[in-house]
Amino acid sequence: MISQDVVLVRYGEITLKDSWTRQSWERILAGNIAFYLQKAGVEYRSERGEGRIFVFTSDQRASEIISRVFGVVSASPASTVPSNLEEIARAAVDLAKQAAPKSFAIRPRRSGVSFSSEEIGRAVGEAVRVATGSKVNLSRPEMEIFVEARRERSFIFTRIVPGVGGLPLGSQGKMLALISGGIDSPVAAWLMMKRGCPVSLLHFDSRPYADAISQCRRSAEVLGQWSSGRKIDFITVPISRGIEKIAAHYPRATCILCRRLMYLIAAQVMEKQQCLGVVTGYSMGQVASQTAENILAEQAGMCLPVFHPLISMDKTEIVDLARKIGTYEITEETKSCTAVPAKPMTRASREEMLRAEEILGLREMAGRLVEEMKVERIG
Ligand code: ATP
Ligand code: MG
Repeated sequence: MISQDVVLVRYGEITLKDSWTRQSWERILAGNIAFYLQKAGVEYRSERGEGRIFVFTSDQRASEIISRVFGVVSASPASTVPSNLEEIARAAVDLAKQAAPKSFAIRPRRSGVSFSSEEIGRAVGEAVRVATGSKVNLSRPEMEIFVEARRERSFIFTRIVPGVGGLPLGSQGKMLALISGGIDSPVAAWLMMKRGCPVSLLHFDSRPYADAISQCRRSAEVLGQWSSGRKIDFITVPISRGIEKIAAHYPRATCILCRRLMYLIAAQVMEKQQCLGVVTGYSMGQVASQTAENILAEQAGMCLPVFHPLISMDKTEIVDLARKIGTYEITEETKSCTAVPAKPMTRASREEMLRAEEILGLREMAGRLVEEMKVERIG
């Protein structure tokens, strides 16, 4: 009976790169995949080439493990067969007999072999039809049998496990993700990881206004499970003294000025951590403080790139992702900050906020608070 001896790993976007970049990213991806396979105790041997990574293993868990690695578009547990039509047909018959579908379709591809895709479809389809009595149905078959015929060897498979997509973690620069203990911010950090960026996580400890350190640490641990063995720095900086001063003088603008203080601190942490940008969990209009006017007033004059990967997403989409990532249960009960005013300013004026920042001495305060930074390595 035919069985899986390889997993075909597809990685989409990387194939569009020039050869130097492609090779370097393929190497990173192969290394990240290797980390998870070794961690799970999977025995395997891998090869790169022809726009694929081939992971030779009979371990049934391999394709699911591989599909969760950033950069993987899909993975197929497959069987290797010699590149001739008789052997391919025999393998297809074997697969069809195991599944006994009412209808089937052959999905052929070829490169470097003398026969055409049509010939594969015809010969293999006919063999399956005769051996099993199953009907050919190209539009809505119960079973699809994929054939990839190549010069050296051919592959045959029935499943395409969708991958998480994105780019290999480590192919892009490191980000400093601001993490608050709520649902959104770990999702934002994860989306940047998905696009190849390792992350450090910065939490502003706002006790007694909010207490979310344990949720943040647990989210960091979950994100660590996605980071291909790279440890994640979980950084905390106390910010309550700043909040107290801001709320006493500019109650309606507390959130905006607090955010400016966060960015001023983040700019310094970013340098220390060799990060290239800051990430937030903002979603346009989600709460009163997350308006276009406020974002402008919060970021005006800041010398740092701020990324908001959730900006166009609806809450339901964010929650779905949080569930998939594994951070939803940790963060769903987190209480919001009690320093948030009853009527927060939704249309802050940039000039007014810059003036308030001067009067309150937020820059100097940021310098003092950052000295109290603590770093914990997670993962
Ligand atoms: P989340 O669900 O991520 O907690 P939120 O909906 O509660 O966000 P805000 O409190 O306005 O919204 O925060 C918006 C973003 O600002 C957060 O996603 C996070 O990136 C950052 N942020 C807010 N509070 C903190 C904090 N205490 N420490 C670090 N970052 C924070
Ligand atoms: Mg939010």
